[in-house]
Amino acid sequence: MSDSRRLRIAIQKSGRLSDDSIALLKAIGIKLNIRDRLLIAHSTNENIDLLRVRDDDIPGLVMDGVVDLGFIGENELEEKMLERQAAGKAADFEVLRRLDYGGCRLSIAVPNEFNYESVKSLEGKKVATTYPYLLERFFKESGVNAKAVMLTGSVEVAPRAGVADAICDLVSTGATLEANGLQEEEVIFRSKAVLIQRADGEISDEKQALINRLVPRIDGVIQAKESKYIMLHAPKAYLEQVKSLLPGAENPTVLPLAGAEDTVAIHVVSPENLFWETMEKLKALGCSSILVMPIEKMMG
Ligand code: ATP
Ligand code: MG
Repeated sequence: MSDSRRLRIAIQKSGRLSDDSIALLKAIGIKLNIRDRLLIAHSTNENIDLLRVRDDDIPGLVMDGVVDLGFIGENELEEKMLERQAAGKAADFEVLRRLDYGGCRLSIAVPNEFNYESVKSLEGKKVATTYPYLLERFFKESGVNAKAVMLTGSVEVAPRAGVADAICDLVSTGATLEANGLQEEEVIFRSKAVLIQRADGEISDEKQALINRLVPRIDGVIQAKESKYIMLHAPKAYLEQVKSLLPGAENPTVLPLAGAEDTVAIHVVSPENLFWETMEKLKALGCSSILVMPIEKMMG
């Protein structure tokens, strides 16, 4: 049963955003009991229910206030926003955080034999896409008279099937385009997954307090993933040179080493990874026991 006091979060049921969204929820301490068939999953340790739906439905669920939060790709969010605006429907939401997964781009691609020179080459052409609003906005901004043909799937075969002259689809590696004899020509939108919140002013104080507790945890998880804990032994004489090689090491922890007068231990939380080249330079300065470790959580 659903309970209006529980925070409702919409995530994609199965697809490219599902695993990463669930992993993020777990990483911020939300215990979930997900059963594959079920639309709803209850958290066992927080007042949270997960609504597992098709990603197309997530922006609307948030904008209509049916759920409080949603994890969604910016491409889908922007498309649904334009669609609702065109239909005169409310399209309010707040982006709480841009996340570190779901990266892709919406691009126009043409068959290899298409003689593409610039956007103007699309004049009078038909372009198949699942994102007609984003595509038409691009046509308008580029001053091109072309037609967006809506297809919900198999967009990449449209030119071969004679349905369109070009396509506009999501790309990450470009392998699908290549396999279908298509050439990427224009990037019209760059997307990542985002966490959005309803913005209808109807959210209770209790729920807002829970959201305000969870969002800093998301920052902590993302920051931790990008950071490393670095430890090494360094000759005292070269301390300044060593520090200048360590990213983010303005104020490292410097500890004496028992029984070693000329050597110190350095510990530092680095906002980025340490490259092999830097480790080799540190070694050349006489450093030893250089350790680079992942960080699981961070706060403050
Ligand atoms: P659903 O059944 O939920 O409607 P879908 O087929 O529309 O699923 P997916 O293919 O699972 O959606 O993609 C979901 C989102 O993942 C995309 O809208 C986009 O934001 C993101 N994404 C990341 N990389 C890619 C990619 N290479 N191709 C497609 N989508 C990608
Ligand atoms: Mg979809």
